[in-house]
Amino acid sequence: MNKKEIEKLRKELQQQRSELIEELEKVKKREESYMNNEVGDDIDKASENIQREILFYFSDHDRHRMDAIDDALQKIDEGRFGICESCGKKIGSDRLNAIPYARLCIKCRPTIENSEA
Ligand SMILES: [Zn+2]
Repeated sequence: MNKKEIEKLRKELQQQRSELIEELEKVKKREESYMNNEVGDDIDKASENIQREILFYFSDHDRHRMDAIDDALQKIDEGRFGICESCGKKIGSDRLNAIPYARLCIKCRPTIENSEA
C-alpha cells in the first residue's frame, strides 16, 4: 500500500470510529432514558468521562471492533500498518480495503472469521 492509499484508509477508520461512538452514545442515551435519570449539572463531568462510560455499553463485538480500529490507527501513525500480526508479512490491499482494521493476513486469519478482524 502506498501512502495515499493508507491515508484513505486512515480517514475511513476515523469515520468508522466516530460512527461507532455515535451509535454507542445513542444506546447510552436510550439506557439513560429508561432509567429516567436527569443528567442536569453533571454534564461537564459526564463529558469528561464519556469515553469510559461508553465502554460500559459496549457489546463485546463493538469493543473488539473499536480496539481493532484504534490499533490500526496507531499502526498507521507508527508506520507499521498493513503488517500481519501473526506472520509479519504484508496484508493484501484487497483485504485492507475491505477491512481496514484487519490484524491478520488472509492466510493467518481464523478459518471461521467472526465477520471481521
Ligand atoms: Zn499472516
